[in-house]
Amino acid sequence: MQAQQVRDGFVELYGTEPEGVWAAPGRVNLIGEHTDYNDGFVMPFALPHTAVAAVARRTDGVLRLHSADVEGGVVELRLDDLAPDSDRNWTAYPSGVVWALCEAGHPVTGADIHLASTVPAGAGLSSSAALEVVVALALNDLYELGLKGWQLARLCQRAENVYVGAPVGIMDQTASACCEEGHALFLDTRDLSQKQIPFDLAAEGMRLLVVDTQVKHSHSEGEYGKRRAGCERGAALLGVDALRDVPYAELDAALERLGDDEEAVRLVRHIVTEDERVEKVVALLESGDTRAIGPVLIAGHASLRDDFRISCPELDLVVDTALASGALGARMTGGGFGGSAIVLAEAADVDTITKAVEEAFAAADFTAPRVFEAVPSAGARRLS
Ligand code: ADP
Ligand code: MG
Repeated sequence: MQAQQVRDGFVELYGTEPEGVWAAPGRVNLIGEHTDYNDGFVMPFALPHTAVAAVARRTDGVLRLHSADVEGGVVELRLDDLAPDSDRNWTAYPSGVVWALCEAGHPVTGADIHLASTVPAGAGLSSSAALEVVVALALNDLYELGLKGWQLARLCQRAENVYVGAPVGIMDQTASACCEEGHALFLDTRDLSQKQIPFDLAAEGMRLLVVDTQVKHSHSEGEYGKRRAGCERGAALLGVDALRDVPYAELDAALERLGDDEEAVRLVRHIVTEDERVEKVVALLESGDTRAIGPVLIAGHASLRDDFRISCPELDLVVDTALASGALGARMTGGGFGGSAIVLAEAADVDTITKAVEEAFAAADFTAPRVFEAVPSAGARRLS
C-alpha cells in the first residue's frame, strides 16, 4: 500500500518509473540507553513503521529529493556541491548519505528520490535513521556497491554526525539496517558484532506498548551533548577508552576513585549498570524467562531518571501510571526529555493501562499521548 503510493508519487513527480522501492524502519530500544556512545551494549528492535523510498539512478551528477510528508517541491542538488553543514533542512539526511557514499569513493553519479514515512518524526523512534538507511540501501542495490547492513549503518551515522551535524551514536542506523522480524538486536556498539534474540511477546501472551508523549523539551539537544561530554570525562578520569571498559564487578571501586565528583559518579553508574542490564535481558530472553525482564526495565528507568537525569514529568507519569495499573515493566526510551516510553504488559491488561495513562495525562493537563503496540518487525529491505 505504502510502496504503491510512493511508486505512484515518483511517477507523478519525475515522469518515469523508479527502478525500485525500498523500506527502512524506525526502532524502539528495549534496553541499553545512552550506552552506544560509550562503546556499550544496546538492544533495539524494528517497528512496523517505515520510511519508503522510490529511487532511480542518474548519470549527470544531480540529486533530486522529494518527501510526501513535507511541504514544498522537489529539491535539486549537485553532488559536487554537497558539503557538511550546508543544509539545515530535512534534505540534509538523504543528501548526507549520498555525500558519505561519494566521500568513501563509491561510484554514485546521481539519483531521483521520492519518499514517505510512517515513522513519527521527533518522537525518539528514529525517523531520521529510517530516512538515511532507506536511501543508503537503495543506492547500495542500484549501484551494486555490495555493502553490508552494518557498513551502511556506519555511512549513515557519518552522514548524520558530519553532514547533518548531530552527534548520534551507531544504534539507530544499525537497528534500521539490521533488525529482523520477531527479534530484538543485541548489538555491541564497539565492534558492531550482533546477535538476533527471539522476541515474540504475542506468543507468550504479552504486548509491548510505545507511548509517544508528543513532547520534546527544547533543551534536549544541549543536554545530550552534556551527557556525552560527561561520560567522556568519566572515562578519562578512570583511565579507560570508554565507560564500556569498566566491568560491572569493578563498579564500586571505580566509583570510589571518582570520590566526590558527584556528576561523574552518577553518569558512570548509569552506563555501567545499563550495560549490565542489557546482558541480563539477553540472558533472560534466551532462557525463556521473558516476564522477568520487567523489573530490569523498571530499574533502567530509575537509573535514567535519578542518575543520568534525562527523564521528564511526562515520561515519569507514563512509567508510574503503567506500573500502578499492572504493567510488568516500563521505561523511557530514546534520548530523553520527551519522546517515547515503552510499557511491557500482559495482553489482558493493555486496555486498562492505556486508559489509565490517557486519563493521567488529561488530569495533569499534558498533551494527549499516542499509544500503539510495537511488534518486532523487519529491518531495511527492498519492496519491489
Ligand atoms: P527522530 O529520529 O527521533 O525522529 P530526529 O530529530 O533525529 O528525530 O529526526 C527528525 C527529522 O528527520 C525531522 O525533523 C526531519 O528533518 C527528518 N524527517 C523525518 N521523517 C521525515 C519525512 N517523512 N520526510 C522528510 N523529513 C523527515
Ligand atoms: Mg534521529
